[in-house]
Amino acid sequence: MIDCPDSYPMALRQAQEKSGWKIDQLAITDVIVTHLHGDHCNGLESLGFLRWLHHRETGASLPKLHLWKPVADRLWERLAPAMDQSGAAKLSDYFEIHFLNQERESLIGGMKVSCRGTQHPIPTSALKFKADGKVIAWSSDTPFDPSLIDWLAKDADLIIHETSPPPTHTPVELLNSLAPKIRLKMRLMHMNDEFDPASTTIPCLQEGEVISI
Ligand SMILES: [Zn+2]
Repeated sequence: MIDCPDSYPMALRQAQEKSGWKIDQLAITDVIVTHLHGDHCNGLESLGFLRWLHHRETGASLPKLHLWKPVADRLWERLAPAMDQSGAAKLSDYFEIHFLNQERESLIGGMKVSCRGTQHPIPTSALKFKADGKVIAWSSDTPFDPSLIDWLAKDADLIIHETSPPPTHTPVELLNSLAPKIRLKMRLMHMNDEFDPASTTIPCLQEGEVISI
C-alpha cells in the first residue's frame, strides 16, 4: 500500500467491491509512507492499533513501513501522542521500520523500489517500482518539476502524477503542456473536489480500477 490516509479502510472496501480483488487490512504486509502530511499518513494510527492487537492475539507479523529516513526520523513524533500508551509503547510495537534509500533500490513485495526527494515543503519521496520488466512511477506530492518528470518518465510504462493547486502541488495545465508520449502514459491522482476532469486529456486514477501494463 502506498500511503495510509484516514479513509484507507473505506478505500480498500470500495476498491474490493469494484475490482473483485480481496484486499484484507490484516493481510497488508508493506506500507510505503511518502511523507507526513495528514492526508497521507493519518490512517497509520488505526492500522497500527489494529495490527498491534492482531499481533498480540495471534503472533502475526507487524506491517513493514518503508520510509525515506528524513520521513522516518519524525514519524514517532507525530504518532506518539496518540500511540505511546503513556510511555509504555514505542514505534516498533506497531510497525517494522525499513528505510528507503535514494542511493539504491529496495525490494518490497517482490518489486524493486527506488525513491527520489520532491520539492514539496516537507521531506517527500517520489517512487519507482520495477517488476517483470515493467516500471510504474509515482510522483507523490510535488510542485511541477521537469527534472522529477524526467526521472519518473525514464523507462516508465505508467506514471501516476499528482495534480492540485500550486505552489506546493502541480496544476494540471502544466501537465497538459508535456509531450504527448509522456501524457499518454500518465494517470492523475490527488485531485481536489473542484477538479474538472474535462480540463485535461490525462485520465484520472479510479478507485478499484485494475490497470494492466
Ligand atoms: Zn503533501
